[in-house]
Amino acid sequence: MRQYLRLLGIGGIGIIRMSGKNCFDVLQKIFVPIHKKPIEEIKGYTMKYGHIVDNKQRVVDEVLVSYFKAPKSYTTENMCEINTHGGNVVEKEILELCLKNGADLAEPGEFTKRAFLNGRIDLLQAESVIDIINAKSKREADEGIKQLKGVLSEKIAAIKQEIMDVMVNIEVVIDYPEYDVEDVTISQIKAMLDSVGGKLIKLEKSFDNGKLIKEGIKTAIIGKPNVGKSSLLNAILNEDRAIVTEFEGTTRDTIEEFVNINGIPLKLIDTAGIRKAKDQVEKIGIEKSKEMAADADLIIAIFDSTKELSDEDLAILELAKDKKTIIILNKIDQKPQVLAENDERFTDVTNNIIKISALNKWGLDELYDKITNLFQLNEINLDNEVMITNVRQKNLIDKAIQNVEKAKDAINNNAPTDIIAIFIKEILEDLGSITGEVVSEDIINEIFSKFCLGK
Ligand code: GDP
Repeated sequence: MRQYLRLLGIGGIGIIRMSGKNCFDVLQKIFVPIHKKPIEEIKGYTMKYGHIVDNKQRVVDEVLVSYFKAPKSYTTENMCEINTHGGNVVEKEILELCLKNGADLAEPGEFTKRAFLNGRIDLLQAESVIDIINAKSKREADEGIKQLKGVLSEKIAAIKQEIMDVMVNIEVVIDYPEYDVEDVTISQIKAMLDSVGGKLIKLEKSFDNGKLIKEGIKTAIIGKPNVGKSSLLNAILNEDRAIVTEFEGTTRDTIEEFVNINGIPLKLIDTAGIRKAKDQVEKIGIEKSKEMAADADLIIAIFDSTKELSDEDLAILELAKDKKTIIILNKIDQKPQVLAENDERFTDVTNNIIKISALNKWGLDELYDKITNLFQLNEINLDNEVMITNVRQKNLIDKAIQNVEKAKDAINNNAPTDIIAIFIKEILEDLGSITGEVVSEDIINEIFSKFCLGK
């Protein structure tokens, strides 16, 4: 089996990647290295310079080819990568030459799928490759790298081991009922289920943080017209250290911008709406604020500190209740200052109240500190914890937790040991599905179909 792939888009170089037992046979038919050496003598992890030629020996491109010899390659199979000049014409021609000479086209994710099927990485690690490629913030990429290194896999393996240690004793009870060890075993099982259950719940909770990191903290900047929403948005987006990615929002006609400040990923909701509103008579008001607030993980509610609170302001405060909120008193550069931070109408909603001048970019650091505190101190510390990052993993953890509960119920109802054992085996299976030891082909195909070509 051989495949190759083409990286689309125009760059300085293009890479065509082949993997499989016979990939060097295909390569030899189209590649003429300058220093001719039999393939057996070429070492892995080396690069050779030469030309790609067609079947009439016409030179198609000047290239560098990297050699990876099984099992020391990404897929564990023989692999080579042809570094061509960029541009679609040459790449396409080399791609077609590979095809003509016996290669098959790779599916999206096929290289990583092979790495998984050949046992070099587990399913969690394979999924982390997608996360790294799609990462929108450094933090998200870091999380992916951690998972690729197998940190989460090790954690799952440790939980499984804890179960297996007790499972051995359960098997003894089932196989040799004449030994009177049942009582001891039951108390062991109970202790194990408590411990495993606790660890699984912690992992399950980590999903919320994992999701925030992956998708960004959905942030709504709300306030009545003219309080400075658009000015604040611009101040945030124009910061030197802000890495901004713009993408289409989930609802029609909205744009969401992903800002990465101090490693905190914020997804600003409907930035186009806020900007568009700036020059129009009809500015973003309460109705629109309501929509944005409903969908947000974080609300930044802005008020004009030079004006008494109006009914509209109070309606905005109402929206901010029961949510993670930061209240901003804007325009502190102007006199008179009418609103105070210790106003009970604010402190009833949150203690996160800051004064800024969006126009002069005063107080932004304090805003970022507040965001960091809101999403880290009162939750799991993002740096040291292992996180689950996708729904597939979360659903399996949920299922394992349910099976822990079922096993506990069985014990409380004095069920026979072999019944309890069934639930415990289910937990092991759920955990095995997370890392991919027991997983159906459909699921594997679904996971890898999300990959891009060439990975
Ligand atoms: P929005 O309708 O909430 O988006 O408000 P804008 O950002 O469009 O601001 C309304 C007006 O207030 C504009 O004229 C801004 O220049 C002004 N403004 C915004 N922030 C400040 C500030 O911190 N200080 C001062 N002096 N003016 C501000």
